[in-house]
Amino acid sequence: MELIDSFGRRINYLRLSVTDRCNLRCSYCMPAEGVEKLAHGDILSYEDLFRIARAAVAIGIEKIRITGGEPLVRKGIVPFLARIAAIEGLRQLVLTTNGLLLPEMAADLRSAGVQRLNISLDSLRADTFRAITRIGDLQRVLDGIAAADAAGFPPPKINMVVMRGINDGEVADFARLTIDRPCTVRFIEYMPATREDNWQSLTVPGREILDRISASHELEPVEKGAFAGPSRDFRIRGAAGTLGVITAVSGHFCGDCNRVRVTSTGMAKSCLFSDEGFDLRPFLETSDPIILQEALRRIVGVKPERHGMSAYKAEHQAFSMAKIGG
Ligand code: SAM
Ligand code: SF4
Repeated sequence: MELIDSFGRRINYLRLSVTDRCNLRCSYCMPAEGVEKLAHGDILSYEDLFRIARAAVAIGIEKIRITGGEPLVRKGIVPFLARIAAIEGLRQLVLTTNGLLLPEMAADLRSAGVQRLNISLDSLRADTFRAITRIGDLQRVLDGIAAADAAGFPPPKINMVVMRGINDGEVADFARLTIDRPCTVRFIEYMPATREDNWQSLTVPGREILDRISASHELEPVEKGAFAGPSRDFRIRGAAGTLGVITAVSGHFCGDCNRVRVTSTGMAKSCLFSDEGFDLRPFLETSDPIILQEALRRIVGVKPERHGMSAYKAEHQAFSMAKIGG
């Protein structure tokens, strides 16, 4: 079954957030202090999250990404993942993590059926990493990547949020990680999640990121796979891995969008940047799976053609990436 939105895009990808909590405080995602925690009762139970995942697969979702907050801090995540992995018709179960808990958990995640990991890593320098995450220890993440390798995961996708004057000097270093290892590095334009007056000065447009890499390496375009989303992918000529840019701010993005989101409180969202969304909780009150399926179809039906964020607009709607799941 195919799920097609009003603009002819095939929607086959659900990002499912299991918590808003996190063991880091990345400056671009959360305030340093005073993070308002959702009450335990506001977070959907694993049973409800599972029912949403199953209903989504029944109507045409083929890939589910588990995200957060930091998904690995929620107790009981491994058996939950094993249940999701067993949903008939689901072709890919992947997870996005900051990597801190992978040293202990990578082997169990692999056994549970997670097929691939995206690891967020914004600096290869311990001091810059600490400054961005406020509390993080880079070595833990590097150990986590090694643990994922040892557990038999395919080489990870590494997501780097590029910020001018903070870590943009490391773009070429990250690109070079793909030369010897068949990993994927994706450069994400910094988005105005928190309300900052000067956010545009932090965003490095994807074009500039590619130009910087091209200054020392020849890039060739890479064909998109079945689940490819809005990333534009390239390979350094002769490299084992690939790299890509996600240009949510500077454009060329929405036409290829294949995703919907559900937050840990049960809000279904058709677009990261839209205030539109609706609460799935009332649809979880009945045990009839068709009602939940129809609710999910509705969210696909109202998916906008493109997001309203403009690189030139100073005013914007602040939102919490940790609550939505990125
Ligand atoms: N804690 C996990 C992690 O960091 O990978 C999963 C949740 S995190 C909200 C998902 C993704 O959103 C991460 O790759 C993170 O870098 C990205 N993200 C968060 N805030 C962002 C922002 N302001 N601009 C661009 N990407 C952002
Ligand atoms: Fe936590 Fe991920 Fe947000 Fe960083 S980006 S604060 S690791 S949820």
